Amino acid sequence: MKINTILSFSAIFLASVATAAMPDDPNKIDTCTKPGTVALTFDDGPGAYNDQLLALLARKKVKATFFVLGSMIAENAQQAGALKKILAGGHQLASHSYSHGNFDKMTEDQMRQEISSTSDIMFQNAGVRPAYMRAPEGNCGAVCTKVMTDLGLVISHWNVDTNDWRFTALAPQAATEQSMVEINKVIIQDSNPAIDSFILLEHEIHKFSVDLLAERVIDAITAKGYRFVTMEECVGKPSYLSGSTPPPVTPVDPVTPPSANTTAGTVAPVVPTATSAPSIVASSVAPSATSLAGASVKSQDNAAGFVRAGAWAMGLVAAAAYALF
Ligand SMILES: [Zn+2]
Repeated sequence: MKINTILSFSAIFLASVATAAMPDDPNKIDTCTKPGTVALTFDDGPGAYNDQLLALLARKKVKATFFVLGSMIAENAQQAGALKKILAGGHQLASHSYSHGNFDKMTEDQMRQEISSTSDIMFQNAGVRPAYMRAPEGNCGAVCTKVMTDLGLVISHWNVDTNDWRFTALAPQAATEQSMVEINKVIIQDSNPAIDSFILLEHEIHKFSVDLLAERVIDAITAKGYRFVTMEECVGKPSYLSGSTPPPVTPVDPVTPPSANTTAGTVAPVVPTATSAPSIVASSVAPSATSLAGASVKSQDNAAGFVRAGAWAMGLVAAAAYALF
């Protein structure tokens, strides 16, 4: 075997080691546990179009999750009632930090302050302390991951993005078309509701996103055969930490009583329906996140694993050849 062949095999071998050493972080949740579900999430509010968005979701009978900012709640007194309206609509409230700063440029204390002050203002306004948190722009490195895990928070990422914030300079219709590009490719064209699930990122503070995009997203994804769920149903962990006292949700469908799925001392087994009240964890200790990983692994991930295994085998051949020659 020629030395350059051996070297190229060795390069593949080393690349495969590097890839294998960096598995997806199981603490970061970017997909649901149930195939055929989509968690529609709206960030950066409560904003000026919140009432309009809630009306749309009610008309479409879709439950969503709102990752809100503490600063948005504090800055606009009129929005103080928004959190209760979101809960009254059967939606889930989650945290997106207080100031929307970059968590990877903060100290651990600053992160904890961002999280606790947001939790406090949400509790003051709506009686809830969120168990789900999305770091601004998804910036959540090792320290952030540790802080959030210590606090029992579900580190909420996404696997499909409208990118709506990128298109706000365009005319509303053009912005909507651009925001549908990734949805059309990843969900409508390339996915299968029998095996796939999504956490979808949108922002409620952009007018076109509420005026036009939200309905387009809902209609297209519904037609593809998916069902919209809250993050709680998507992930299977309660919406709120202990000490939360959210107002009762008035169910649209009277079949399901609005009782909280709280189990003393343990994490409540969550089997929510679209009309059930969100549940509260009785303990703020973080349950193992590893049980969440891989429940709806996409086929590409399996293919990538197969490629890695092949590269490993080739690398071993190269190493053996190198030793022999
Ligand atoms: Zn944001």
